[in-house]
Amino acid sequence: MSRYLGSVCKLCRREKEKLFLKGEKCSSNCTLNRKRGKNNPGQHGSEKMKISDYAKHLREKQKARRMYGLTEEQFKHYYETAERLKGSTGDNLLRILELRLDNVVYRLGLASSKKMARQIVNHGNVLVNEKKVDVARYQVRVGDIITFPEKYKTNTVMKKLIGKTVSNVLTWLSFDKDKLTGRVVSEPSMNEVSHIINSQLIVEYYSK
Ligand code: SF4
Repeated sequence: MSRYLGSVCKLCRREKEKLFLKGEKCSSNCTLNRKRGKNNPGQHGSEKMKISDYAKHLREKQKARRMYGLTEEQFKHYYETAERLKGSTGDNLLRILELRLDNVVYRLGLASSKKMARQIVNHGNVLVNEKKVDVARYQVRVGDIITFPEKYKTNTVMKKLIGKTVSNVLTWLSFDKDKLTGRVVSEPSMNEVSHIINSQLIVEYYSK
């Protein structure tokens, strides 16, 4: 299935939750804060619908997939990988998703949305352990150092983002504002992800 190209705000309305897909606008002018934004998208969006268990599981999977900007195939592939690993499949899935390089750039506060983070990576503006990595799905490891080429450090958008967001870095990451260097300090903390995504519902979706 190809990537969704329609209005991303509709995706949040569908999930009835802010998925933060539009960068800065999500904090300042979110559609969900308006009356119409509280309805499902489409002609019958305001009608109340009873949600079945299957729909609950499906919606959680769709929410997670959309938050990370993945196609059905990519998401399923991550799920199958998580299933093969030792331990809880749900936790493994969240861990793998969090360790994607584009997600780490976003979590470090160096992009205002995951889409922007993906572009920064795809354009070759990210170094992992001093080597250029332009693959958004690249899995970082504990101890990896994330930096940027010299020319990108002076980029005006980058400077603006650093001024605003690096104070929000998660506990498993660190960021040195002066050196513009991020580090993966530990495995992603499930506490910081599991309150946003209920991975158990996703496991139940794929187990049917
Ligand atoms: Fe979602 Fe952002 Fe649109 Fe709000 S502004 S509905 S969080 S994409």
